[in-house]
Amino acid sequence: MNKISIDYEKKSIERGYTDRLLRIDLTRQAITVETIPAATKEMFVGGRGYCLQLVYDGTSAATRYDSPENVLALAGGPFCGESGFAGTGKFIIGSISPLTGTFCDSNVGGWFFPLVKNAGFDAIAVTGKSLKDVIIFIDDERQTISLEKAPATDSSLLGAEELVENWRGSAKPSSIAFINAGIGAKNTFFGCINSVYYDKRRNRCRAKQAGRGGLGTVMRAKGLWGIVVKSDLGTGAGNQPADKQRVRAVGSQLRQVIKQVDPNELRLGQQGTTSLLDMMNNHDILPVNNYKFGRDERQKEVSGKIFEEKVFSQKHPDGCFPGCTLSCTKGCEAATLTTGPHAGRTVPVDGPEYETAAAVTNLGIFDIPAIMEYAWYCDEYGFDTISAGVTIAFLIEAFQEGFLTTDDTGGVELRWDDQKTIFALLHKMAVGGDDFSRAAGRGIRHLKGWISNRAAGRNGLQREEIERQLELFAMEAKGLEFSMYITKESLAQQGGYGFALKGPQHDESWLIALDQIKNEMPTFAEKAQALRWFPLFRTWFNIAGLCKLPWIDVRHPDAAATDEPAKNLPTVEWYLELVNSTLGTHKTIDDLLAESERCYLLHKLINLRQGFGTREFDRIPLRAMAPVFLDEFHSRRDYYIGQLQELGVATVNRSDEELLYELQEHRRKQYEILTDTVYAEKGYDKHGIPLDETLERLGFTAPEYRAIVADARERTQAGRAA
Ligand code: SF4
Repeated sequence: MNKISIDYEKKSIERGYTDRLLRIDLTRQAITVETIPAATKEMFVGGRGYCLQLVYDGTSAATRYDSPENVLALAGGPFCGESGFAGTGKFIIGSISPLTGTFCDSNVGGWFFPLVKNAGFDAIAVTGKSLKDVIIFIDDERQTISLEKAPATDSSLLGAEELVENWRGSAKPSSIAFINAGIGAKNTFFGCINSVYYDKRRNRCRAKQAGRGGLGTVMRAKGLWGIVVKSDLGTGAGNQPADKQRVRAVGSQLRQVIKQVDPNELRLGQQGTTSLLDMMNNHDILPVNNYKFGRDERQKEVSGKIFEEKVFSQKHPDGCFPGCTLSCTKGCEAATLTTGPHAGRTVPVDGPEYETAAAVTNLGIFDIPAIMEYAWYCDEYGFDTISAGVTIAFLIEAFQEGFLTTDDTGGVELRWDDQKTIFALLHKMAVGGDDFSRAAGRGIRHLKGWISNRAAGRNGLQREEIERQLELFAMEAKGLEFSMYITKESLAQQGGYGFALKGPQHDESWLIALDQIKNEMPTFAEKAQALRWFPLFRTWFNIAGLCKLPWIDVRHPDAAATDEPAKNLPTVEWYLELVNSTLGTHKTIDDLLAESERCYLLHKLINLRQGFGTREFDRIPLRAMAPVFLDEFHSRRDYYIGQLQELGVATVNRSDEELLYELQEHRRKQYEILTDTVYAEKGYDKHGIPLDETLERLGFTAPEYRAIVADARERTQAGRAA
C-alpha cells in the first residue's frame, strides 16, 4: 500500500487532558483529528468512559466483532502518564467482542498511552477494515499520523527490539511504544493485545497485555497489525496538573505506604502477583482441574517465594511506568522453550501474572518452566492466557467425562497434567490447525454447542441433555471464560463475576479476598452492598486510567480503624486529592461514584441493545456456586457436611448424592436471592433492566435510551409468554 499521511497540530496537555480524539477509518483510509466535546468529558471522563461512548455511538444492535463499523476504541484518562503518582501507565481498549457479542474492555499498562497522550491525544477510535495489514504510526516528532504497510511478521514479541530500532531514528528507544497482536489473535476469538515498550533497565522490549474479550481478534479482523507511537516524554510537558506540588505531595504519601506495607504483606514488589498463588491455595481458591478443586499439595512447587528467589531477575525496579514503586511487573531474562515452533530458543519472559500461572494449575500442571513457556507463547501468539487456559481445561474435563472422544479431538487423548498434549493443542489453536483446534479457539460458549452436536445420540443422550450437563462445568458466563478464582465458597465473588457487565472478570469486582479470606463482609446485606460500591469504585479506576493495585492490594494502616476497612478509605482520599489537584476541582467521593455509575449504565445499555444484559445473562454455571460431582464434594466432605448442618439439614442416614443435591439447591437459591437484592441496590427491575428513575437520575433521558430499555422489557415479556 502507499503510505497515507496527514500533518497535525499537537495540542498540549492541560490539567490532564488534550481533548483530542484521533479517528482512523481503515476502509476509507481516512485520518481525522477531532475535538472531544466538553459535554462528553463531563459525562464520561476518559478511559473506559470514552471507549463506551465511542463504541455506543459508532455501532448498532446489528454490529458484530468483525463488522466494518465496529469501533476499536483506546483511551487513557486524565491521570494517565502522571509520573508523580503510582499506577498511571494504564489505558483501556474496548470494542464489540467476538466472545460476548457486546462491549468488552480490558485495561493494560506500559508506556503506550502516556506517549499517545504526550503526542496530543486522549483517545483513538479505529473503524473500517483494511484489505492488507497496516499499521497506524503516530509521530509526535514530525507531527504526522500515517497509515503504513505492516511489518512482514506475525510475531508479537520476537523481533520487537529490531522494530523499535527501525522506527526510532535518532530518538531514544523509550520514545517508541506500540500495540500489536500475534497470529493466534487472528485465528481464535480470544486474541489479546500486547502493549510493548522499551525498558532501558532491562535493555529490551517488554509487553503488558489487554487480555480479555478478544480485542486482539478485533484488531486483526480490521487488518490492523498494530499502532505505533513515537514521542519523547522528556521533552513533553508532563500531565500539567492544576497544582503540581499537591500532586507530588500526595503521590509521595502513597509511595510511603507502599514502601511500608507491601514488603510485609503481598510482596508484589518482589513476587509480582504470583504471591497470590500461595494465598489462594491456602484458602481453597486456586483453580485446579477446571475449578474442580481449590487446593493442591503440588502448589508448593510454584510458590511466590520460588518465583521471587529463583525465577525473577530482581536487579531492576519493575514498574510498568515511571512513578509506580509497587513495581509488580516481574519477569525473567532467559527461559528455554521446549515445545512448538520455537522449541530450543531461549527467550525473556514477562510475568507471569497470577492469572497466567493459575490458568496452568487449572490444567493440573504445577511446573514453573511450563508456566513460563505458557506465558511466553500466549503473549507471542496474542492469546488471552485466561480464556485459552480455561477453554483447554473445559475440553479436558469434557473428554474425561465422556462427552468428547478421540474421534472429535483428532486422535488426541486429553488428560490433566499432560504438558505434551496441552501445548500441542495450544500451538494448533494459534494457527487454526484442524476442526477441533478451530472450534477450541472460539471459546467455551461455542464449544458447548459444538460438542453437543457431535455427541448427540452417543450413549442415548439427546443434544439438549448433553448441553445441560456441559453447562454444569463450562466456566463461562456472557461468553467470557471465568478468571482464576474458585468462587464456590464466596457468595460475594459469585455475584462479582455474575453481575460483571463484561462477563466473569475480576477487574469489576474482586471481592474474593475481602469476603472469603479476610471475612470483611460476613452478612448477606454487606455482600449485596459491596456488589454496588466496589464495581463502581473499580469502574472509576478504569475511567480515570489508573491501576487499582496500589489501592486494593496495599491496605493503608489507618484503614483498620475505619468503619469499613475493606474500602481502604484513607487511600481513597488520596485518589480524591489527585483528582482535585490535577483538574483544579472540588469533587467529592460521591462525585467520582456518580461518574462511574453513568459509565456503568451506558455499558448496561449497550449490553441490552445488543440483545443481552437481562437476568438470564447474569447466571453462572453450577461449578461457580457449588461442587458439581461427588469427587469434588468428597474433597471437602467434612466442611460441606458442617455447612449443611448449620443450615439445619439432616445429614444422618442420607447418601452423599442427596447431600450434594441439597447443597447445590441451597447455593442456587442464595444466588437468586442475591440477584434480586443487588438489582434493587442498583436500581434495576427483577429482570436486570434499569428502572426509568435510574435512567433519569443519571441523565439518560434521551428517547434512544428509553427505547433500548423498552425493547428489553418487551423481550423479557415475550420470553415469559413463550
Ligand atoms: S502496580 Fe504493577 S501493574 Fe500497576 S502500575 Fe504498578 S507496576 Fe504497573
